[in-house]
Amino acid sequence: MEEKKKLPLATQIFIALVLGIIAGLLLQSHSDMADAYIKPIGTIFLNLLKFIVVPIVLFSIMAGIISMSDIRKVGSIGIKTIVYYMCTTAVAIVIGLAGGNLFKGFFPILETSDLTYEASEETPFMDTIVGIFPSNFIAPLSEATMLQVIVMAILIGFAVILVGEEAAPAVKGINSFNAIFMKCMEMILKLSPIGVFCLICPVVAANGAAILGSLAMVLLTAYICYFAHMLIVYSLAVKTMGGMSPIEFFKGQFPAMIFAFSSSSSVGTLPINMQGCEKMGADKEVTSFVLPLGATINMDGTAIYQGVCAIFIAACYGISLTPAQMLTIVLTATLASIGTAGVPGAGMVMLAMVLASVGLPLDGIALVAGVDRIFDMGRTVVNITGDASCALIVSNLERKKAQKKSAA
Ligand code: ASP
Repeated sequence: MEEKKKLPLATQIFIALVLGIIAGLLLQSHSDMADAYIKPIGTIFLNLLKFIVVPIVLFSIMAGIISMSDIRKVGSIGIKTIVYYMCTTAVAIVIGLAGGNLFKGFFPILETSDLTYEASEETPFMDTIVGIFPSNFIAPLSEATMLQVIVMAILIGFAVILVGEEAAPAVKGINSFNAIFMKCMEMILKLSPIGVFCLICPVVAANGAAILGSLAMVLLTAYICYFAHMLIVYSLAVKTMGGMSPIEFFKGQFPAMIFAFSSSSSVGTLPINMQGCEKMGADKEVTSFVLPLGATINMDGTAIYQGVCAIFIAACYGISLTPAQMLTIVLTATLASIGTAGVPGAGMVMLAMVLASVGLPLDGIALVAGVDRIFDMGRTVVNITGDASCALIVSNLERKKAQKKSAA
């Protein structure tokens, strides 16, 4: 029984964010102190989230598939999800490229001669595909290779449905573990106001001045595109296909957005995103499949960032991109965003692949690397909001389909 009325978690997180930013601004001249004493607490919180994410993805996808108990339904949800993810990501890059071109004139011409950036080895496309499939039962779990974990969960989930009666104890076990890990997650989420404060404060302390520096225009362009994408694409999609008012959607999505902003991790935000979507009326069987998948492969914000940065880097080197090159960027950035892990900083690594595809100098990444965290906070918000919109839309479409079927 609750004796005192507590502030809702979302309000607590929001207050923590504001306090964290204020504390960060105050600590600007002591950012080493913020790094030494405040950041580690944020790291503990992120570690706890990382710890819970693998079991949550594994069990929630398995439980989601099993609960549908019909392979055709899994297929129908899967196809809708993938099509939505691909289309919105392609639109996102187009918005990023358009925004970049629109504001190109305002980009600063930076001194580019002494920049170096060590790109990590580029993985050939087929290797990326091969890498999705696990060759070992334990390694994907222990190394948190999310795509492989998803493949495992889908495979086992299907097997449970096909085995039928004999798998009944496993169904019970999977559902029970799912409930247990969800509870763990809830407990960890209670700490999120502290986590948010400790994550955002050192970032602001270290970057406060840089925000106002020469990269402000590129950052601003990216943030305008982030907002445009969310307000136009998601509002329209949620309204037309999700049967929901965009205002309601963004209101319900707000806690997850703040969380994504401070943690810069889609995977870390997964638990809170799941809770939010279910509160907004998405079906559990849909969220448990669509959201973990989205946190791994659907990165609209990352795609926007890659579009804006490609134009920016080209402009800094005095290169003008041709329409054919831009089309190449749309294709590679869609793939790159699928391959981007939902953890802080992953999108910047994939930017190398996008630049390389059109022959732009990889050293250009050094231009944006210093403020990557600020790009990252915004792109993660877009990434998880895209996932949530998909969960609500697919839930609505599936519900309608079921109603039609029962009426017929
Ligand atoms: N941090 C982003 C995410 O977790 C990925 C990225 O770096 O673009 O969604």
